[in-house]
Amino acid sequence: MQAFIGLGSNLAAPQQQVLLAQCDLSALPETAFIRHSSLYKSPPMGPQDQPDFINAVSAIDTTLSPDALLNHLQQIEQQHGRVKQRHWGERTLDLDILLYDDWQIEESHLHVPHKGIAERAFVLYPLAEIAPNLDIPGLGPIAELLASCPKSGLERLETK
Ligand code: ADP
Ligand code: MG
Repeated sequence: MQAFIGLGSNLAAPQQQVLLAQCDLSALPETAFIRHSSLYKSPPMGPQDQPDFINAVSAIDTTLSPDALLNHLQQIEQQHGRVKQRHWGERTLDLDILLYDDWQIEESHLHVPHKGIAERAFVLYPLAEIAPNLDIPGLGPIAELLASCPKSGLERLETK
């Protein structure tokens, strides 16, 4: 299955956190890495008295089930010292399953496609960078979603 993972960090050297998390994703069991987007910088959503975020999206090819994948992602978040703080607040690392093949999952602990995917520039732009022809289950072609999603201060970083 092809899955897309959203990465975000705004604490403890966020660029390093995201780059290291990309390596962690590449090392997941039952998983072949496909590609990582560039890094992006975005202003915080929610409370404004917190640092900007570094975001990226990675595509993986995996036979892990969605639940197994979520467990692995949560372990990686823990290894990066994530502590639960306020809603939409600062975090050392956030890893979200954006898409899992063409599956639509609505369970209390797992929503796929990830909620808010269509409105969040820091998800859509990096996702479109690595999958410009993607059709998002229930939402449509990514190009159409991008057309109605302002960049809202999102900046692509020239790190690679
Ligand atoms: P957010 O990413 O919305 O800021 P958290 O990272 O704190 O919030 O996630 C809280 C919960 O979201 C997790 O415990 C997880 O069970 C749930 N969740 C629901 N859908 C997803 C998804 N697609 N990817 C990752 N977590 C998800
Ligand atoms: Mg999350």
